[in-house]
Amino acid sequence: MEVKILQNALKANDSIAIENERKLKERKIFSVNMMSSPGSGKTTILEETIRKLGDTVKIAVIEGDVKTTMDADRLVKFGIPVVQINTETFGSSCHLDANMVSKGLDSIMEEKFDLLFVENVGNLVCPAGYKLGTCRNVVVLSVTEGEDKPPKYPLIFRNSDLLLINKTDLLPYLDFDMKKLEKSVREIKVDMEIFHLSAKSGEGLEQWIDWLKKGIKEARNGS
Ligand code: MG
Ligand code: ZN
Repeated sequence: MEVKILQNALKANDSIAIENERKLKERKIFSVNMMSSPGSGKTTILEETIRKLGDTVKIAVIEGDVKTTMDADRLVKFGIPVVQINTETFGSSCHLDANMVSKGLDSIMEEKFDLLFVENVGNLVCPAGYKLGTCRNVVVLSVTEGEDKPPKYPLIFRNSDLLLINKTDLLPYLDFDMKKLEKSVREIKVDMEIFHLSAKSGEGLEQWIDWLKKGIKEARNGS
């Protein structure tokens, strides 16, 4: 019985995700679901992205956290539309689902923007199982988390289009095996795009910004 209930819940989630996707496509918005464990640097990446791209591209953010508006407060300073979703008020606190994103969209759709970030709840497990209706899934892994995460949490890597390996400025201080990490990721997803990034030093930011620009262009052209 429980298996059936879960399947129905995921089906309901998928149909809302399709509706989110339709709304975003209709408005030609490029949307990115950012997933990672807590503390990987998602919000810092978004801050740097807004600094670099915010003058030329209109950006909005749906911010997911169990509690607090700390991350949303950091982003609202840039004068962009930001909506905070506290998942505990929806009764399932460890991930965003399509319904929460739909509610978030309702509250910012009056604004005009071309790029939407959905910053998921920090968690490498269940965010991977819930489609949100975004154009792309991005997984962020910071080098301080160790290179053993992909084989331990394969689904989030399998379901992502791009891996951002963040905090590369810390590599000199760590025994982090980059080759081993990339190999294990490609064993899960052969064609995974991988960028090395340091939101702090700025390494790799250009590549990330170019990737976003390409997506924005594609969304604008309706592809
Ligand atoms: Mg955050
Ligand atoms: Zn969850």
